[in-house]
Amino acid sequence: MTFEDLKLAEPLLRAVKAEGYTTPTPIQQQAVPHVLEGKDVLGCAQTGTGKTAAFTLPILQRLSVGRPPPPARGRPIRALVLSPTRELAAQIGESIRAYGRFTGITSAVIFGGVGQNAQEQSLKQGVDILVATPGRLLDLMQQGFVSYKSLEVFVLDEADRMLDMGFIHDVKRVIAALPKKRQTLFFSATMPPEIQGLANSILTNPVRVEV
Ligand code: AMP
Repeated sequence: MTFEDLKLAEPLLRAVKAEGYTTPTPIQQQAVPHVLEGKDVLGCAQTGTGKTAAFTLPILQRLSVGRPPPPARGRPIRALVLSPTRELAAQIGESIRAYGRFTGITSAVIFGGVGQNAQEQSLKQGVDILVATPGRLLDLMQQGFVSYKSLEVFVLDEADRMLDMGFIHDVKRVIAALPKKRQTLFFSATMPPEIQGLANSILTNPVRVEV
């Protein structure tokens, strides 16, 4: 199977080539078609399997194909990716920039432990895709810097680590603020009962992919 077989648009195929990828990984082969169709996905996959591209490539395509160019300033957030750690959030942000370099889609990464000013500025300017850790995102939400009225896609990455690190309550508070009508992609390396319960409560007819 090739990336062309996954029906990815030309700007994404170009970016994937530039990364030196020739063949989609198993999680990419399984997940990309469903995400492109707008389905909810429950993915059991570890880091290192190519799962970031498995959700990032189809989200970039969904956000960029067949739409008029949005205003340069004040873009509404259309996709939110929640990640447990700042290292992982930064990596996801880099992947989005790399895979999205020919699409015009904009993104920002926000996490705690650093000053808030630059993050406030990027939210004021507006981005298509926001990648965030839960604590700092809640702070910025409470201060009125985040609007979800145009949100189309929500990704919860490493859900089991969210639980292990004590973030699950924060994650639930973020989810409660999101529009109910959205696409949700849920990834976890393991599925303990509390994580399965959270998945059941936020996913609608999910496709289950496992690697
Ligand atoms: P991830 O599981 O998303 O953290 O990705 C693990 C690593 O695999 C990253 O360094 C990616 O750049 C790389 N990668 C992702 N997809 C592919 C692919 N189809 N072919 C080769 N490398 C890939």
